Amino acid sequence: MRDREIFGNINTVYKRISRAALSVDRTPFDITLIAVTKTVEPARILEAVDAGVRIFGENRVQEAQMKVSSRELSAIREPVRWHLIGRLQRNKAKAAVRLFDLIHSIDSLELAFEVDRHAGEAGKIQDVLVEVKLSPEETKHGVRPEGLLPLLEAVCSLRHLRLRGLMTIPPYSEDPEDARPFFRSLRELRNTAGKEGFDLPDLSMGMSHDLEVAIEEGATLVRVGTAIFGGRP
Ligand SMILES: *Cc1c(COP(=O)(O)O)cnc(C)c1O
Repeated sequence: MRDREIFGNINTVYKRISRAALSVDRTPFDITLIAVTKTVEPARILEAVDAGVRIFGENRVQEAQMKVSSRELSAIREPVRWHLIGRLQRNKAKAAVRLFDLIHSIDSLELAFEVDRHAGEAGKIQDVLVEVKLSPEETKHGVRPEGLLPLLEAVCSLRHLRLRGLMTIPPYSEDPEDARPFFRSLRELRNTAGKEGFDLPDLSMGMSHDLEVAIEEGATLVRVGTAIFGGRP
């Protein structure tokens, strides 16, 4: 049975995405919703699938593995895809390559090499984003802006990686406007890298409370958990 609450929440999120896109003359179709399912049970993920969501984001490899192989989710026919949005440790690279269509969190040369090696062994071209650390908070990961171009260069030289764009997580603030300078910086970095010849179509930025601001600043992938599934424990 369809859970009306999750269904309604997803509709609300799609409305927010559309409105934000149209407000800056972008087409809503250029923005992809990633439903973030960390701590969410497979049965409730299924309700989001029923409501039309096809891309799910997890921030831990092991948790994603358990869900993908769960009875509920291994039985579905819809072509759902999984993205890794959290930090990736090198010793989990092999499992990550097997599970995820897009890894949002490449933040070092060593990690890029490791993912490339496992993608090669698996006969896969792995789509990746490079995570940029724009906030001084110690809890935030990513390559610092000064190190971005060399890392992009290295990622592009690896034959089993396909670089799709950039990702960032701004420091948490109640006021979504506080995130704007961070989102804008990511877009500007993308433009700078573009002048150096890097094609970076995707910007992964914006979460439940600040997705409008992110879309106004150019997000193509928004990662939304709480606004769909409610608060986490
Ligand atoms: C949990 C998480 C999200 C979703 O956050 P909400 O505020 O629940 O929408 C987005 N991105 C990352 C990297 C996360 O870990």
